[in-house]
Amino acid sequence: MKKVLILEDEVSIRSFIVINLQRAGYEAIEAGTGAEALAQLQRNPDIGVAILDIMLPDIDGFEVCRTIRTTNKQIGIIMLTARTQEMDKVTGLMTGADDYVTKPFSPAELTARIDALYRRLGGENAVEQTEINQGPFLLNTRNRTLEKNGQRIKLTQVEYAIMKLFMSNPGRALSREEILSTVWGRDYDGELKIVDVNIRRLRIKIEDDTANPIYLTTVWGFGYKWGA
Ligand code: CA
Repeated sequence: MKKVLILEDEVSIRSFIVINLQRAGYEAIEAGTGAEALAQLQRNPDIGVAILDIMLPDIDGFEVCRTIRTTNKQIGIIMLTARTQEMDKVTGLMTGADDYVTKPFSPAELTARIDALYRRLGGENAVEQTEINQGPFLLNTRNRTLEKNGQRIKLTQVEYAIMKLFMSNPGRALSREEILSTVWGRDYDGELKIVDVNIRRLRIKIEDDTANPIYLTTVWGFGYKWGA
């Protein structure tokens, strides 16, 4: 799992960030002081991105950033700035930060920045999640395989593409049109019925009781929804 360090002394903000990072599939390592952050980095050399608050009880975030950079050029660093202060931005970038996010920020904004940084630092392979684990299901996007409770389920390429689409969008109702254009391509001018046929076949493979599907459910008059 991709590790992200969060250095923030305000517990409520830190917890908020941690919860949202975990939701986005990251492992969050926490620190409340600059010294703690540096210790955590020593303990976890595989941390890919560090989020650094500036105003801290011991040393300030810029100093932490500078210290990290003397030994680590690889790690991505995002500064959390309190206001839209040009000074903060400039100082942050001068001390070796890669990016900055201004408080208050939305969780989506922060995770988008982290994703982007991971992509830039590690190339596409590093950022692409190779395994999606939901309930009893494990989808491996490198091998293009699906397991349920550790048992391999044989899928056609189309079925695999449908599973990947659903497992990447858990809990979201997807319209039949969206499924058709994502899986078969935008130029495909076949009938929507092909979506239903494939879902029916998929259910036989993945559901415990095909007559009462619990994972791939129907959203009447619209499409389908995944939940595991
Ligand atoms: Ca602070």
